[in-house]
Amino acid sequence: MNLLNFLIIDDDVVDRVHYRRIISQTQQFSAKITEVDSAEQALTLCPQEKFDCIILDYHLPGMNGIEFVRELKKIGNNNVSLIMLTGQGNENIAVNAMKEGITDYVIKNDLDPDYFVDTIIKSMQKKLQENKLQEQEEQLKHFAYFDNLTGFMNRYAFEEAALRTLSEAKRFHNVIGFLYIDLDHFKNVNDIFGHAVGDALLEEVANRLRKILREEDLKARIGGDEFIILLTRLKTIDDAAIVANKIVEQIALPFQIASHVIFVGASVGIAGYPESGGSLVELLKNADVALYRAKDLGRGVFTFFSEDLRLVHEKRLNFEQALHRAIANEEFFLVYQPQFELATRKIIGMEALLRWHHPELGLVSPDQFIPIAEESGLIIPIGRWVLETACKQFKKWSQEISMMLQLNIAINLSPKELSNPLFLVSIQKLLIEIDLPPERVSLEITESALVQNIQNEGILTKLRAIRLQLSIDDFGKGSSSLSRLKKLPINSLKIDASFVEGLEAEKADVAIVKYIINIGKELDLTVVAEGIETETQLKFLIEHGCVAGQGFYFSYPLTEKEMTEFLINYVPSI
Ligand code: C2E
Ligand code: MG
Ligand code: MG
Repeated sequence: MNLLNFLIIDDDVVDRVHYRRIISQTQQFSAKITEVDSAEQALTLCPQEKFDCIILDYHLPGMNGIEFVRELKKIGNNNVSLIMLTGQGNENIAVNAMKEGITDYVIKNDLDPDYFVDTIIKSMQKKLQENKLQEQEEQLKHFAYFDNLTGFMNRYAFEEAALRTLSEAKRFHNVIGFLYIDLDHFKNVNDIFGHAVGDALLEEVANRLRKILREEDLKARIGGDEFIILLTRLKTIDDAAIVANKIVEQIALPFQIASHVIFVGASVGIAGYPESGGSLVELLKNADVALYRAKDLGRGVFTFFSEDLRLVHEKRLNFEQALHRAIANEEFFLVYQPQFELATRKIIGMEALLRWHHPELGLVSPDQFIPIAEESGLIIPIGRWVLETACKQFKKWSQEISMMLQLNIAINLSPKELSNPLFLVSIQKLLIEIDLPPERVSLEITESALVQNIQNEGILTKLRAIRLQLSIDDFGKGSSSLSRLKKLPINSLKIDASFVEGLEAEKADVAIVKYIINIGKELDLTVVAEGIETETQLKFLIEHGCVAGQGFYFSYPLTEKEMTEFLINYVPSI
C-alpha cells in the first residue's frame, strides 16, 4: 500500500500516542499521521487535506463522534474511511454511528494492535469499494441524463429540469424561452465526411452554444442534430430573439474539423412562456412548430411561435395525413395532356399529370401537394404509382389503338425520386415487365431540381444509357448555365408556360422564348412549348422554330376515358 494519510482525533493524549504507535509500527502499510484533540480542529483541517482514514474517539469535547460525522458530511467529505473508538458496553452507539456513515468501530479497552490494524485495513478496503460503487452509480446517472457527445442534457433530463424551471416561472412570474434548434444540411456532413466528422462537428456546435448561453440556461441535445435550449429569466421574450440571432450567426460561421472546412447553419424556433403556452408539452410543441416555419422560410433564420402558425401547421399536418392515405384510398388519378408537332398539328405524345381527389377539399392541384409529398418523403410511393399507372395505361392505348405506335409519354419526376437509389432498377424492371420500349418514355425534371442537386446528373446518364428520353421542364425558371446544359444527357427543353403567356405583351418574354429556342437548336435539343393558349402564341412559336408544344389551345388535360375517345376519334388535321 502507498503512504496512507491518517488523522487521529482524541482529547486524551495517552490514547493518541497509543494509536499512533500501533499505526506507525505495523509492517502492513506506512503512514503519515496528524493528531488533533478536538472535532472543531479536525473540521477545519479536513477541507484542506485529503485523509485516507480518520480515527476518532466517540467522546469528544463539545461534540460526539456521530455529530462529527454529520458535520463532516456537510463539508462534502464522504470518501474517507472513519474508525470510531468506543468504550466497552457502548456497542449500541457504535452500530448507530455506522448507520450515520462510520465505516467501522473498535472497542478501546484492551485494544489489540493486530486487531486494530486489521480493522483499519478492512475499513479502508470497504470504503474503497463503496467509493467505486458510488462512482459507477454517478456515471450511470450521468449516462442516463446526459448526452455523451456534447455533455448537454438528454431529453429526459431536460424535461425534468424544464418542468422545475417552468413551475418556478409560474410562481415568480418569470419569462422563459424555449429555443428549438435544428442544424441545416447536417445529414450531408455525415454523408460526405463520415460520422466521426459529424460527431466532431456536433461537439463544436455545442461549444459555440455554450459560449453564447449562460451557465444557468438549460441545454439539451435531443436527437441527431436537434438541440433544445431553455433560456431562464428573460426580461421580455424579445430577449430570446437576441440569443436566437446570435446562435444563427455563430453556427453559420465555418467549422474547421480535422482538415475540413464545413459550413452548416441553424434554424431556430422560439416559444416563450407565458405567451406561447402554459404547459411544457405545449411549449415544446410550439417551439417545434416555429422551427418548422423557420425551415420553411429557407433555413438559417429564427421564428417565433404564433397562433396563426399553429393553425397553418395543423392544416399542413392534416394535409400530410390525408396524403398518406391517398394511395390506399385510390384518391389519385392521372390526366393526360396531348402534345403536338406545332407546324403540322399532329399529335406526337402526351404528358401524364397527377390529380388528387381529396375526400373533403375536392380536387387539389399538384402545385399544392407535390411540395408536401416531397418534403415528407411520400413522393417516392406516389411517384412510383404515377410511373406504373401512366406506363401501363400508355401501353394499353398502344395496343388498342395502333396509331399510338408513334407516340411518346412524358412523366414528371421530382428530384427526390431521382435521388432514390432504387429508381433506376425499378423503372427498368417496370418497362421490361409491361414490355414498353424505354425510348417511348420521356422523364421530365424541372430545371430548378437539377440546379439544386448536382448529384442527380450521374443518374441522368444512367437513365439515358437505358434509352429513356430526358426533358428539362419549366426551362428558363431555374438558372442552369449553358456550359452545364451542354454536358447534361438530355433530349429536350420545355419552355415554361409563364414565358409563353407573356409572348403577346411582354418584350422580355419574347426575347426569352427566342433565346430558349435558339439554345435548343444549338445543342440539338427538341424544344417543347408549354401553356399554348392562343393562335398568336402558336404562330410566334412556329415562326421562330419551336417544334412541339401543348396547351389549352390544343387540348386541356384529359381523363383516361376522354383520352381514349380523343385517340379513337383523332384525325390528323393536315
Ligand atoms: P408541368 O409539368 O410544367 O405541367 C404543366 C402544367 O401546365 C400542368 O399543370 C398543366 O395542367 C398546365 N397547363 C397545361 N396547358 C396549359 C395552358 O394552356 N395554360 C396554362 N396556364 N396551364 C396549362 P398541373 O397539372 O397543375 O401540374 C402542375 C405541376 O405539378 C406540373 O408542372 C409538374 O411540375 C407537377 N406535376 C404534375 N404531375 C406530377 C407528377 O406526377 N409527378 C411530379 N413529380 N410532379 C407532377
Ligand atoms: Mg411537366
Ligand atoms: Mg412545366
